Amino acid sequence: MPPPETGWNSRAPGVNLTGMKKSDVTCPECHAGYRRIELQSKPGTLGEFRCLTCDHLLETFDGSANVALRLTVQPAKKAKNSSHGVPGAG
Ligand SMILES: [Zn+2]
Repeated sequence: MPPPETGWNSRAPGVNLTGMKKSDVTCPECHAGYRRIELQSKPGTLGEFRCLTCDHLLETFDGSANVALRLTVQPAKKAKNSSHGVPGAG
């Protein structure tokens, strides 16, 4: 049997080449997914970011970095009123 190939194993995680840090944020309330992009080379963001779906406070910005969040994964919507009635339910 051939020996296992080694080589692409010295890649350091978390290295940002362009001063941009990307991460994923998940709302603990409605489980909506957000892509978080942090830029070091721009003036910082002041304020706070709330969930677009449930208005839950996800992060506060102190102006140390420029942070942008974009909704990527919509939470599973709960069907409150179904148009089709289920006979015999209940
Ligand atoms: Zn939420």
